[in-house]
Amino acid sequence: MLAGIGMTSQRTRARMVERLREQGIRDDRVLHAMGQVPRHIFIEQALANRAYDDTALPLGFGQTISQPYVVAKMIEILIEGRELGKTLEIGAGCGYQAAILGVLSKQVFAVERIAPLLDRARENLRQLKLSHIRLKHADGNLGLREAAPFDTIILAAATRQTPQALLAQLAPGGRLVMPLGSTEQVINLIEHTERGFVETQFDAVRFVPLLPGVE
Ligand code: SAH
Repeated sequence: MLAGIGMTSQRTRARMVERLREQGIRDDRVLHAMGQVPRHIFIEQALANRAYDDTALPLGFGQTISQPYVVAKMIEILIEGRELGKTLEIGAGCGYQAAILGVLSKQVFAVERIAPLLDRARENLRQLKLSHIRLKHADGNLGLREAAPFDTIILAAATRQTPQALLAQLAPGGRLVMPLGSTEQVINLIEHTERGFVETQFDAVRFVPLLPGVE
């Protein structure tokens, strides 16, 4: 059980989980984690009544908190038939998806290029007592060398080409998911198999772009 969860939002969250099930999310571990994390604490007060709607919402700095279905779908692809293991998230924003990952894995690293967003992520995750999630202000294009290799890598920002550093930091047997494309994107899975990197494509999605450098 996560800290800081009031009863108020529990019923709305249960409805969100029901909707995710109807939308085709099957993995009970993922559904359970989505039901645990209070999405409203990651969202500005003015928008809090929409926290459990199935939409992306503005975070400030031109960024968005990801849509619940897309968060659940990407993580389901990553966890199917295995555990997440050591996980790297690129584009933590204010930490919502990192929290879900943190419920599912004991070892989570998340990087974010916009410092004030990372500060908010840190505060939000502290409130939930998810202190095992390591946050870093860095350019995710470079991965996170000091903690590599990763069993799981997830990008929350879109790019037309998978950054080479991320492939180099993906452990054998590891999986990476990312929104692939510029304006039109799809969820792209890359598996590091004995025969090399194998790619599979899933739903069409819309994410903010993966940008270079930090601010
Ligand atoms: N994971 C967040 C989604 C945040 S939106 C959630 O759970 O809602 C995507 C984030 O990726 C933005 O905060 C953006 O600043 C960040 N981002 C974009 N390019 C990046 C890069 N090169 N390195 C790290 N973060 C990046």
